[in-house]
Amino acid sequence: MNNVYYGKLIFELSKPGRIGYSLPTSDIQGYCIDNLPECVTRKNQLDLPEADELTVARHYTNMSNNNFGVDTGFYPLGSCTMKYNPKVNEEMAALPGFNIHPSTPNAMAQGALELYDELQKILSEIAGLSRFTLNPYAGAHGELTGLMVIRKYHMQRGDVTRTKIIVPDSAHGTNPASAAVCGLQIVQVKSTTDGTVDIEDLKPLLGPDIAGMMMTNPNTLGIFERKIPEIARLVHECGGLMYYDGANLNPMLGVCRPGDMGFDVMHINLHKTFSTPHGGGGPGSGPVGVRTGLEQYLPNPQVVRNVDGTYSTTNDDQSLGRVSGWLGNFGIIIRAYAYLLSLGRENINMAGKLSVLNANYIKECLRSHYKLPIDGLCKHEFVFDGLKDEYAGDRHSPDHVTTLDVAKRLLDYGFHAPTIYFPLLFHEAMMIEPTETESKDTLDEFIAVMKQIAEEAKANPELLKTAPHSTPIRRLDDVKAVKEPRFIY
Ligand SMILES: *Cc1c(COP(=O)(O)O)cnc(C)c1O
Repeated sequence: MNNVYYGKLIFELSKPGRIGYSLPTSDIQGYCIDNLPECVTRKNQLDLPEADELTVARHYTNMSNNNFGVDTGFYPLGSCTMKYNPKVNEEMAALPGFNIHPSTPNAMAQGALELYDELQKILSEIAGLSRFTLNPYAGAHGELTGLMVIRKYHMQRGDVTRTKIIVPDSAHGTNPASAAVCGLQIVQVKSTTDGTVDIEDLKPLLGPDIAGMMMTNPNTLGIFERKIPEIARLVHECGGLMYYDGANLNPMLGVCRPGDMGFDVMHINLHKTFSTPHGGGGPGSGPVGVRTGLEQYLPNPQVVRNVDGTYSTTNDDQSLGRVSGWLGNFGIIIRAYAYLLSLGRENINMAGKLSVLNANYIKECLRSHYKLPIDGLCKHEFVFDGLKDEYAGDRHSPDHVTTLDVAKRLLDYGFHAPTIYFPLLFHEAMMIEPTETESKDTLDEFIAVMKQIAEEAKANPELLKTAPHSTPIRRLDDVKAVKEPRFIY
C-alpha cells in the first residue's frame, strides 16, 4: 500500500501547470468569462492544487483504503447498527426522476411527495403510531423535534410548569443533550442491577413539573425493558408523555410496536435501521412519530394526500414550526422506502429476530473469556465489561490489558472495534452489535479472533499494549489528536 502517493496531501502532489480536466468553452451566447462584470471577477489566482487525473484518482483511492467501512469488513459497533446496505437502494436514490430541487412546485413533484407520504404511513404502521414527519435530519434532531412536540402539547393545554424530563442513566448521550437544547431540565433515573429502569427510583421523581420521560427499548445495554406498561402508566398518571428513542429499532421490527407499549412520541434513525450507509457524521434522517391527538404539533411543512389522490404540503397553525429548510434528507427517505419494499411485510420481522439471534450467539460463545455484567437474553446488542481477570492480568500492573487494547488489536485482524467505554455504567465497557446481515461464518471468525486476543493478552500483553501493528496509522495519542488535529484532504 505504501507508494509515492500514499499519505500525502493533494497539495504536496501538485505541480504547476498540471491539468486533469479542460472546461469546454461556454456555448451560451453573451455569457463568457471575458464579459463578466468587473465586480464579480477574481483579482488573484486561487491557490488550488494542480494535478493530472491519474494522480487525483490514486490520491483518493489511497485515501479511501485508509478507511474502514461495512463494505470492508465486520463492523460490530454497538448502538450504531452498521449493517450491510443493499446497493439496490443506492440505485433507487440515484434515479434521475428523484433528482429535483427542493423548491420544485408541488404539482411537478407529485412522485416525491407520494413516496414521502407512503414511507410516513409504513413507519406509522411499524411503530403503532398515527403520523410521522420525515423532516428531521438525524436521530438527535428527531429527539429535539419530538421533545418540542411534547413541550408544545403541554403549552397548548396551559400546563406551563412542566420543565423537567426524566432520562435513565443508561441513555444514549444525545438524550440529555437534546433535552437541554429543548430547554428542559434533566432528571436522571437509575438502573437496577439487571440493567433496566428502577421503578422505585422513578416513583418519587414524578410530579406536576415532569414533561415526560425518554426511554430506549431495548435500552443501550441491549436489554428489553419489561416494565414499560407500568412505567408508561405512572408517567401518564402524573401528566407526562412517554418518549421512545427508536434509533435502534432493528430488534423490534415486526415483533412489537412502541405505540402499543404506551409511547406517545418517538424518533427512528432511517440511517441505522432502514439502510443508509452512515458514519463520520452523516448523512442521516430522524423521522418523528406521534400518537393520535398530537399530529397537529408536528413540524411544518407537512405532506398530505388530498381526496383526489394528489399530494400537497401544508402548514398547520398549531405546529411547533419548522425544524428543517425542506422535507428532510430526501435521498435517505428514498433508500428507506426501497429497503422496506424489497423486504416486504412478510420478511421485515426476520431482520429483528436475526439481529437478536446473532447478538446472543456471540455473547454466549465469548462469555468464557469476557466479563458479562448482565446475564440473560439480550436483544440486538450486549455489553461486556472487558476481559476476564485471568486474561487481563493484575489491574494494578502496567501490563494490565484494557478494553482499549483489545479494540486496537482487533484492527490487526481486520475487524472494526466494538463501541468501547460506553455506556458509562461499566469501567471496561465493550458494546457489541453484530446486526442481522452477518453470516454465521463471519460471526465464528470474530469469536475465534476475540478468543485468540484473550490468549494473547495472557501470554504477551505487550503485543496488545502496542497494537495495532498492521494498520496504516498506528496507535494514536487520543489527547494530542484532539488538540492538534491534522486534516488530510
Ligand atoms: C445513534 C443514536 C442516537 C443519535 O442518532 P444520530 O443520528 O447520531 O443523531 C440516539 N439514540 C440512540 C440510542 C442511538 O443509538
